[in-house]
Amino acid sequence: MQEKVITTSFDSLGLKAELLRAVTEQGYTQPTPIQAQAIPVVLAGKDLLGAAQTGTGKTAGFTLPLLQLLGSKANGSHSPARHPVRALVITPTRELAAQVEESVRTYGKYVSLKSALVYGGVGMQPQVDALRRGVDILVATPGRLLDHVQQRTVDLRQVEILVLDEADRMLDMGFIHDIRKILALLPAKRQNLLFSATFPDEIRKLASAFMHSPVTVEVARRNTPAELVAQVAHPVDGARKRELLAHLVKTNDWKQVLVFVRTKHGANRLAQQLTREGVHADAIHGNKAQNARTRALNEFKDGRTRVLVATDIAARGLDIEALPHVVNYDLPHVAEDYVHRIGRTGRAGAEGEAVSFVSVEERPLMAAIERLMKRQVELKTIAGFEPGTRSANPSPEEPRRQRQPQRQRRPQQQQRQPQRHGQPRQQQRNGPQQRHGQPQHQRPQPRRDDHRRLPAPIAAEHEAQLREARARAAMDEPYEPQAQAQPRTEPRPEPRVSQRPPRRGFLLGGNK
Ligand code: AMP
Repeated sequence: MQEKVITTSFDSLGLKAELLRAVTEQGYTQPTPIQAQAIPVVLAGKDLLGAAQTGTGKTAGFTLPLLQLLGSKANGSHSPARHPVRALVITPTRELAAQVEESVRTYGKYVSLKSALVYGGVGMQPQVDALRRGVDILVATPGRLLDHVQQRTVDLRQVEILVLDEADRMLDMGFIHDIRKILALLPAKRQNLLFSATFPDEIRKLASAFMHSPVTVEVARRNTPAELVAQVAHPVDGARKRELLAHLVKTNDWKQVLVFVRTKHGANRLAQQLTREGVHADAIHGNKAQNARTRALNEFKDGRTRVLVATDIAARGLDIEALPHVVNYDLPHVAEDYVHRIGRTGRAGAEGEAVSFVSVEERPLMAAIERLMKRQVELKTIAGFEPGTRSANPSPEEPRRQRQPQRQRRPQQQQRQPQRHGQPRQQQRNGPQQRHGQPQHQRPQPRRDDHRRLPAPIAAEHEAQLREARARAAMDEPYEPQAQAQPRTEPRPEPRVSQRPPRRGFLLGGNK
């Protein structure tokens, strides 16, 4: 589809001086395409379906007109009763909620409206207090919002504008029922804005059920990360990925690197190991308390932490200005996630680099990614890290892995045998000295690379399960090969990305 070339200025969009002033202070000179198209539609009071990813400027696209609409009826009263929730923004993740609310405060600096943030993983009381003081614009994740509804600490009966941000992510994360419940609590007469990067059938069905003749704006494909971001893949043995990462960070003097791994425990472990090697790293994932996540993110943004190791869900919606390097330490099982990951860098035309570590088992995953992007990623071997070669400077744990093929048990065995011979697992992991007293370990064991003889996609999945089992064993946690979605309590489980059906492209038409 041919996209309209837009050369609008902020002044011509009909925004008030207070908002233009805040925008200018941000250094924005021109609206992004989603802003140019969405702002007049929202100001006109119409429902809007926006096909836009994070990184397109969509937050200002809905926040600015929303502030204007509510601001025209703002009151300076301090009475909570005069500040009912009039705009509700729902986001899938806490990080995105925090960023949206920050944008509301930034763009609303010169408008007298009150905003608040409500998400899980932190205490209810400060949120209850904030809600009691009166809130015009509430930014919330669905689960915690419903907790407040249940405790009658929030009243949504006066909501005039509803924004569903990253609706497809909400669907992926299993929030659709929560969303339906929330919709049922809102007044029927209201303005609805829905933003989504993709429009699977379920989103379309949802949208048609609650939106009124929405105007469609679509810009998301404009900034395909595949075009903006320099991409390279390094073939490397799985056991040497950490060493390669430390090598690249040190030799290239990378200052700010976002590293994606598949599991929360893998994230913790990698961050600890890198820090031990003198590369200051931290981890961000769904098992961390929200304040620890916020702190990790802030320290990374400030440059105090050099490497932030993240899982896909935790990194969703992260907005870090000019993030120069993204590393796919583990390739994602769903090719679309690769595109989301590398979209963290190269934003707004900034130069970014996405580096992928590809073990032999992950080659089918890389091939799927290339098919999705319809382009090849340059394959570059780093000298000294050629697959199949040993480290000249082995890490403390590499020899252990190489000398202990018997640790490649089936995941189910690990689950059934949390301890062997009465030894704590930590001791079991500690290497050769235990093996002398355990003759059964000398029995022929399956070769470490047996699984590589499996068909490639199965081998990759198998290897991923083994890796997760090992990581969990290291964290002393039971291994659940297919963790099921848990009931709604926050923090939310990170969904098994491999269970998500691949996404389709945009199905929306042009502007109506
Ligand atoms: P978003 O897609 O809303 O997460 O925005 C992505 C980034 O673009 C944020 O860092 C915004 O500060 C920035 N941004 C939003 N609007 C503009 C604009 N008109 N010009 C330049 N940067 C912008």
